[in-house]
Amino acid sequence: MAPNSSIPRKLPILIVTKEVLFPGASMRLSVNSTRNINMIRNRLSQNTLASTIIGVVPKEPGSEIDTADDLGMLHPIGTAAMVVQVTSTNWPATNYTILVTGICRFRLEKIVMEVPYVVGVVTQLDKFNVNEVNDENPGLNELIKNFRNEAAKLVELSDISLPVVGRVRNLLESIPGQHLADVCSALLKASYEEKLELLDALDLTDRFQKALQLLIRQVEIMQEKKNNHSFIIKRRMIKPGDNVGAVSKNLDENASETDEIHELQAKLRNAGLPPQARKVAFKELQRLKRLSPFSPEDGIIRSYIELMAELPWSRSSQETIDIQKARKDLDADHYAMEKLKKRVLEYLAVRQLKNSLRGPILCFVGPPGVGKTSVGRSIAHTLGREFHRISLGGVCNQADIRGHRRTYIGSMPGRIIQGLKTAGVNNPVFLLDEVDKMCAGIHGDPAAALLEVLDPEQNCNFVDHYLNVPFDLSQVMFIATANTLDSIPAPLLDRMEVIRVPGYTHEEKLHIAKLHLLPKQLEEHGLDKSMVTLSEESIKILITKYTREAGVRTLERKLGAICRAVAVKVAEWNSSSTGNDAKKETVMPPVILDEAALEDILGEAGVAVGLAWTSVGGEVLLVEATQVEGDGEVMLTGQLGDVMKESARLALNWVRTHARQYGFGLENIGGDPMSNADVHIHFPAGAVVKDGPSAGITIVVALVSLFSGRPMARETAMTGELTLHGEVLPVGGVKEKVLAAHRAGLKKIILPKKCEKVLVEIPDYIKKDLAFILVSNVDEVLQAAFDGGWKL
Ligand code: ADP
Repeated sequence: MAPNSSIPRKLPILIVTKEVLFPGASMRLSVNSTRNINMIRNRLSQNTLASTIIGVVPKEPGSEIDTADDLGMLHPIGTAAMVVQVTSTNWPATNYTILVTGICRFRLEKIVMEVPYVVGVVTQLDKFNVNEVNDENPGLNELIKNFRNEAAKLVELSDISLPVVGRVRNLLESIPGQHLADVCSALLKASYEEKLELLDALDLTDRFQKALQLLIRQVEIMQEKKNNHSFIIKRRMIKPGDNVGAVSKNLDENASETDEIHELQAKLRNAGLPPQARKVAFKELQRLKRLSPFSPEDGIIRSYIELMAELPWSRSSQETIDIQKARKDLDADHYAMEKLKKRVLEYLAVRQLKNSLRGPILCFVGPPGVGKTSVGRSIAHTLGREFHRISLGGVCNQADIRGHRRTYIGSMPGRIIQGLKTAGVNNPVFLLDEVDKMCAGIHGDPAAALLEVLDPEQNCNFVDHYLNVPFDLSQVMFIATANTLDSIPAPLLDRMEVIRVPGYTHEEKLHIAKLHLLPKQLEEHGLDKSMVTLSEESIKILITKYTREAGVRTLERKLGAICRAVAVKVAEWNSSSTGNDAKKETVMPPVILDEAALEDILGEAGVAVGLAWTSVGGEVLLVEATQVEGDGEVMLTGQLGDVMKESARLALNWVRTHARQYGFGLENIGGDPMSNADVHIHFPAGAVVKDGPSAGITIVVALVSLFSGRPMARETAMTGELTLHGEVLPVGGVKEKVLAAHRAGLKKIILPKKCEKVLVEIPDYIKKDLAFILVSNVDEVLQAAFDGGWKL
């Protein structure tokens, strides 16, 4: 890139685990998580490929879930990268490999889109300007000189036929010194944590000091290897009958402490491997000793041995079952849920008496956000066991459970073995989340593999294909969760004891918010409860107006948003009070969160409330629209049928052609709000297929709200289809929809004028709570859907 150019503010993000890309280095990345695949599909179509810049963001080490699909624990610093090549395979599963070249570091400021792939706002950290090192910093110049010397030694010791070595050798001569640390990182063997430290080292002196240490370590190791190698050859000449194993064993005893293989060997010895696994691991270790560190197999075997050494073959937590304490723990963490708590305590009591894990597996079934995961976590806590969640939603491949055989490039162990590695003990509580969302595909039925995992007759000898030796799962405690029972395969259901977790009433939500969610959010945001005044009334408003769910997850998220807003106020107050001694003495008055303040904080642009008619009656249906940099493409997600997709296109077309007239999105080129943006329209509750021609006007309102930045009027919902010319057409299911809106506590309903006569079917006691606004064209919809209407 040109010295003064900069990267875009918004970048599509590729989340990587265990890989760190450095500016100036090239790397092949295997892409197989859903979000990453979506990103490649959406952003890297063939024609735009050459100039595409993406952000590569590593995950923090030790993130609870080891897949790139989880957004928790993203590292704050990533690398902007140019995509050089994309290759894809569909077997054994859809998988892309992309070749990227790092451009510069950035700070990931925030995530502005989560589905179908991640888009982040970033701040560029490295400059492209190459003449920054100057004579004013002799210390740094000296460091760079040393680094160049050591790097030259490393290249000399390496196998020059390897492309990466050849590339670094050429670059050593030609590139400006300050880029050397980053470029040479491709040759450095360092742990993930060490590489992250290098990525985080924004100051050049700091970066070179860190990189130089790693470089020197590596040069020493390679020097030693080289000496040992010639030693083996010499020994062979003297004693031709000697086998390599014996010789290398001998050598190991002499090897220096820094030798990585030596370290691996020590780790294996301490890993408490059962005999069969031990035999296999040491055989692989012997193979590794004979390989050049740059042979392609080296990394594969090394990862395998490392996994063998890290798995908790004989490490377990000390379990304590104390029913009294368990009751207290469960009560302390959860309000209500009496039936579930009672059943869990019975289960634990039986476990204590029988002293065995045999018996059915608990399966919590209920809507999202009702505390299923949270109860699982409490159980682990009270038993003194580690907790690990394995998300099974969308898993269609047996290999996800049972691993890929090591003959595949990029093969990995399955989630059970990965989970054990993360848990670090062989008796964790595994929460098998969303067992109802697995599906059988062409790569086998994951449910069948799961059955084996859960079967006490078989699971003491569970063989993961990658590991290829049995691991004893009999001490693992499994708990499953599901939203519905319908899609759980019968044999799996047979193994489980179903405990239903129903949704909460408004009253219960109020207590949960007061007693659990608010204190938790305050603490997470570093706030004290004296800093806010949130009355019961306000919490009720929060529940009825801002959330429509059976559980409390959105409620928790909204409380989080409120806490963030309060935190900003506190920070502002603190900074305005510095230097002003009189004010410093006083304590900041609590932030009062009344209805108006909630409206201020939570009013969201780009969201509209619609009404849908499903097989089970009417439902409130949200439509969310977001905008990302792009060139006018539309993305639709949320399991939509074809009719719904057409509605969405029609709606978008109307909004684009009327943008100038209504004055939204005019800051964009030519008054077209889509001239330099892609729009993503999402219908949440993605598991339900949505279709039918009744969401047209809702989508229009979501888009208008997005482009204008104005939130839609509160307590309002709508239904109606539109024509290309903006007329509103009648829709079906009006009665059911009105009932659903009433149930959800909404007050104003926008309906097509032509549906007026259906209103007679609606009982008076419901009608009296609602205001109906009958519309015959989109203009009337907009006037009704936004407070204060739209002036033309
Ligand atoms: P699920 O697994 O059912 O989707 P979670 O366990 O993730 O739901 O719950 C979402 C949030 O709501 C968690 O922070 C959880 O602690 C909280 N929560 C749910 N039910 C309760 C309850 N009865 N008491 C206290 N907190 C609860």
